[in-house]
Amino acid sequence: MRAVRFHGARDIRVEDVPAPSGVLLHDDVLVEPFVTGICGTDLHEYIAGPIVTPSTPHVYTGATNPQILGHEFSARVKAVGSGVTHVKPGDRISVQPLLFPRDDYFGKRGLYHLSPKMGCVGLSWAWGGMAELAVIKDYNAQPVPDTLTDEQAAMIEPAAVAMYGIDRGGVTAGSTVLVSGAGPIGALTVLGAKAAGASVIIVSEPNPNRRRIIAEIAPYAVVVDPKTQNLLEIVADLTEEGVGVDVALECVGMEASLNACVDAVRRQGKVVQVGLHIKRASIDAMQWALKDITVEATWCYPVQMWPRIARLIASGSFPVEKVITARIDAADVVAKGFEALLDPAGNHLKIIVRT
Ligand SMILES: [Zn+2]
Repeated sequence: MRAVRFHGARDIRVEDVPAPSGVLLHDDVLVEPFVTGICGTDLHEYIAGPIVTPSTPHVYTGATNPQILGHEFSARVKAVGSGVTHVKPGDRISVQPLLFPRDDYFGKRGLYHLSPKMGCVGLSWAWGGMAELAVIKDYNAQPVPDTLTDEQAAMIEPAAVAMYGIDRGGVTAGSTVLVSGAGPIGALTVLGAKAAGASVIIVSEPNPNRRRIIAEIAPYAVVVDPKTQNLLEIVADLTEEGVGVDVALECVGMEASLNACVDAVRRQGKVVQVGLHIKRASIDAMQWALKDITVEATWCYPVQMWPRIARLIASGSFPVEKVITARIDAADVVAKGFEALLDPAGNHLKIIVRT
């Protein structure tokens, strides 16, 4: 079957690989992926990997490179193992890609995303979404309502990352919010904050194309160029007595962006670290203390979020598909996918691959 595999930095190949064969284990589900999003994690592997993909057999799944990519995807169920009862052949699903033991400290508490042994379909598992077929575990297969499109179902994974940050920030009806960075997760965070009821949403983004895209898909947001405009003045103008926003969400993973969030949040407000930093950030701890703030930092999402995100999308209040900027064939994944996303022009947020 055709699959997109990561072999090493700048070495992603579209190639013919053996399809899943043999009898399914009792908790296996064989699926046919519909569409798969390219994620920032995939991009990091492409630029500087292997980082997350395993060079030696993964501690929990045993998977090793070359890795079939794709962890943001929707699929149709083709076959199920003897113990699988919640989905059947023909069902449409969204894949919750995390794989984890259920019997360690975190697993026993339902905090599956925190297991030190956690693996992920499409990053550290024998199969991934960018292939004609994939084998997943029963708990990875999340049924979706008929009203969700295949693309919306594939977007639940990155939407869960964004919504978890929004939850941790305590964004609620009437909240004032700053989203720092309008990349794919920042854009989903803007849409999610609106869905959660935020009344004032300010977005700080230095890239002009990304500012244009977020202004189009979220016309209610106040879009700021932090290089030429005074973000703190704008935040002061838009908040009660100029105190700053209730919640500031860092969606880039950069020192300046994190410190801008601390500057913009009100005293006793919340800063949420959603973006992943690739180097250490210098922060002003005294300012954190003086402002009496809470800093939350998030990793992935609780896997129980899938039905809730699906409902939010189905209701129309969380239009996640708006962040999709291109749809490509798997054959073009390097040139029109990875390279397009790395273009500093920033014309793309989420690129969806048909497999
Ligand atoms: Zn991802």
